Amino acid sequence: MELIFIGYPGSGKGTQAALLSQHLNNIPRISTGDILRAAVAAKKELGLKAKKYMDAGELVPDEVMIDLVIQRVSEPDSVKGYILDGFPRTIHQAQELDRVLLNYDRKISAVISLEIEKRKVVERLTSRRVCGRCGHLYNLLADLPPENNICSACGGEVYQRSDDKPETVLHRMDVYEEATRPLKAYYGSQGKLVQIDGSLSIEKVHAEVVHRLVKKLIELETAAKLLSAPGHA
Ligand code: AMP
Repeated sequence: MELIFIGYPGSGKGTQAALLSQHLNNIPRISTGDILRAAVAAKKELGLKAKKYMDAGELVPDEVMIDLVIQRVSEPDSVKGYILDGFPRTIHQAQELDRVLLNYDRKISAVISLEIEKRKVVERLTSRRVCGRCGHLYNLLADLPPENNICSACGGEVYQRSDDKPETVLHRMDVYEEATRPLKAYYGSQGKLVQIDGSLSIEKVHAEVVHRLVKKLIELETAAKLLSAPGHA
């Protein structure tokens, strides 16, 4: 099963993609943001290319991202499917993904869009802190990091991502509106879009994701059977 999460930065895609991955026998969650941050930390060529865009809240160029994702989904752990978190982010990325999948006789199964007010995600992101070692997330409004900024889970250092600074967050929202929001119409016209209220608790959103996804997959399968039935023009 090939699934995609879309939504504002900070809408909960990472958290929900991880929960859904567990629910689906640990099919891999592929977060392009995590892959890029790891490449930056390891000072890999990819990281050096991507860092300036990430720090500015801009999108990394499509060619770089498309190559990266095509390579990642060709790895052996992706044979049974995967959950993309943070890709595609432009129509061109989505079209290229569709084109490449078609070559392997595969296609995107469904796309989950987490709907949440812009005001709420700006608040979430600017108060977000993250452990540089294990990735554990803290929040100044809800789950405070320890005072000495040492992660209670692993002892790593807790910091604010440079792209979570207020001015960069606002810019990332504009980039989302312009480049990524059109994906809803793109996947909507393919009948694959599932829109979920992302402002509820993590558990409620997860339950809704599972419920609505199953419904959507049944709907798409039924439609495909009807279309392939003998006598259908
Ligand atoms: P994220 O953690 O998903 O918010 O991604 C962090 C940053 O990585 C984004 O602000 C972009 O600079 C870059 N990035 C991640 N995924 C993509 C993508 N699909 N296309 C372009 N840039 C991306």
